[in-house]
This record gives sequence, C-alpha cells and structure tokens, in this order.
Amino acid sequence: MDVLRTVDAMQNFSDAAMRAGKRVALVPTMGALHDGHLALVRRATEEADVVVVSIFVNPTQFAPGEDYDEYPRELDADREKLEPLDVDAVFAPPVSEMYPDAGSERMPGSLTWVDVERLDAHLCGAYRDNHFRGVTTVVAKLLHACKPDVAVFGRKDAQQFVILRRMVKDLLMDVEMIGVPTVREPSGLAQSSRNEYLSDAEREQAAVLYEAVTTAKARVKAGEQDPQALVRAMQNALQQAPDAQVQYAEVVDADTLQPVEHLESGQEILAAVAVFFGDTRLIDNAFMYVPEA
Ligand code: AMP
Repeated sequence: MDVLRTVDAMQNFSDAAMRAGKRVALVPTMGALHDGHLALVRRATEEADVVVVSIFVNPTQFAPGEDYDEYPRELDADREKLEPLDVDAVFAPPVSEMYPDAGSERMPGSLTWVDVERLDAHLCGAYRDNHFRGVTTVVAKLLHACKPDVAVFGRKDAQQFVILRRMVKDLLMDVEMIGVPTVREPSGLAQSSRNEYLSDAEREQAAVLYEAVTTAKARVKAGEQDPQALVRAMQNALQQAPDAQVQYAEVVDADTLQPVEHLESGQEILAAVAVFFGDTRLIDNAFMYVPEA
C-alpha cells in the first residue's frame, strides 16, 4: 500500500492505473477510521481494480469554534486498519498541497469555491455556515487529484451525499457516485469518529438518534401522511435522552432537501436529526419511500 503525500504523486499513480486499463475507486475520509469507513472501502474493492483512500482533515469545512484542532489524527493506526483490505494507495496530503496559497501574504486563501445552491438551506446547512461549500470544494479537488472512475460515500452524511451527487451531475464530472448505508454500533448508534468524544453515559443515550429516525420510518410505513407528525415523533424519541440538546429534527424531500408539506405516495423522503451531547454534535437519518396509496 503506497502512501502518497502530493497531488503530483497521486495523479501519476492514477494515470498509471488508467493506462493499465484499471478502474479506480476513491474513498474520501478525514481519517480516525472506524467500521463505517471500512464498509466504504470494502464496497470500493467490489467496484474497482484499484482502491485509493484519502485521509485529509479539511480545514475549510470547519467553522471557527468547531473541532478542527481537536479532530483525531491517527495516520499510523489508520494505515494498519487499511492494510488487510486490499487498498492500493492512501492519499494523505498536507494542507499546503490541497490549499497551496492558504496563509500566503499575496493570496491569503482560496479564490475558487464550489458551491451547490439551495440544497444546503436546511438540515445541517442551516446551522453550519459554509460547511458544505468546504465539503464540495475539497471533494472536487480530491476528484481532480485522484481521478477515480467511482467514488464511495456514506449515507450517514445524507445531506453531504445528496449535495455531492448534485455537484457531480451539474459540473458534468465523469465519476460514478455510490452511497453506502450507515454502519452502526449494536445499540443502533451510527459509527462516527466523533463518538470518541462521548462519555459512557452519553454514548448509551445517543442510541435515541437511531430510535428517532427508525420511528419516523415505521410511521411512514404504517401510513402516516403528515410530516409534522413525523417531526413530533422524532422529537419525542430524542427527549428520552436527558442530556440530549436537539438541534433539528426534520423531514425533507430526498432530492431537493426542502421540507415537505404533504407526503406524496412514491416520493422519497429523508428524516434527519442532529443532537448535541455537551459539545459533541451527532447526526443520523433514514431515507424512505412513501408507500403507494
Ligand atoms: P468522515 O471521515 O467522517 O468525513 O467520513 C468519510 C466518509 O465515511 C463519508 O462518506 C461518511 O459519510 C462515511 N461514513 C462515516 N461514518 C459512517 C458510517 N457509520 N457508516 C457509513 N459510512 C460512514
């Protein structure tokens, strides 16, 4: 498994794979790898001949005051987790490779951003200023650096996946986008690098996020037609955790990510929640189709 540190080295690696007629997959991550990331890697190995995992804690998707500095950086441990999985290369660039002008006097930051409009108006986008602009910009850069045929993401970050899929479509990028279902702990809690911040008591309570979105899914399956009733059911489930501070519980259309006023039969919707335990912010979601009447 090669560890590549520069964009040049990464592009040369992918060019060689392409010349050899190989299909390349990219799994973008910020490291601190857990079973959720490893599920994406396994899917990538099924989809392509050559698998690249990028590990880059992207400064432009963190707002001031968020956990950029504290975010776990564990490259050696991450490499050990990837070793048995048939990964061909890890792309782990320093910030100066991905943002060459950042901090320089002549050019204090990037001048070019990729911005997908409207899809960030609700859910996490309503609370995290410029977060998705940072995500779309870095993923566009990673796609140019790694030149994959296919890129694999987790549906755990549902809004991110829908926005990136739209970016690829709108910008005519020649890459297949795959969204892998969320990998969970036995309690139902979605695996997340941020779970490391939780106390034992918080971790136990954090299972309510999954309960909330599965409750919404069960209600839709049982014929519930009022999105507000789904929101109330999710809020009730979240309130079972005494230390949970709910940021949002929303039901939106799965493509436009706009709130839905009525559930249309056959429509795909997304029920999503974000909850703080202390300073730790957790998210979860469920995609679902409204049953045909
Ligand atoms: P991150 O390192 O948190 O930026 O995540 C990198 C990729 O892994 C993203 O596409 C995430 O959606 C995905 N991911 C994170 N947690 C999970 C999980 N529990 N199940 C599936 N995919 C996940």
